[in-house]
Amino acid sequence: MNDNSYTCNGCRRVLSYSDYPPVVGTEGHTCPDCSKGAKEIAAEVDWRLKQCGIDGEITLDYHTNKLPLIQLCEKYDYSESEILHRVELCVSYIEGEKRKDIPYAEWTKR
Ligand SMILES: [Zn+2]
Repeated sequence: MNDNSYTCNGCRRVLSYSDYPPVVGTEGHTCPDCSKGAKEIAAEVDWRLKQCGIDGEITLDYHTNKLPLIQLCEKYDYSESEILHRVELCVSYIEGEKRKDIPYAEWTKR
């Protein structure tokens, strides 16, 4: 390791600045491959969240915006357990390698 190299925060490879210019962000140095992957994942999660309607918005507020539960209850007019249940459903819908092959409304009925 010398001055011209860095360790990618994603794949932990040691890469050279000149050959693989890193993307520097809050996560540290990330190689071009990893930062591209992260962007694609973010776009995919975004798309899936949109399929979940109001539950997607709640999940975004809960996980990404870190709103406290009490505030979510007021904002969406649901009880705490209802909020947590919806977040759980939504997360189970958006997680996984592939998109679910049924709409969110169907998914929640199973
Ligand atoms: Zn990497």
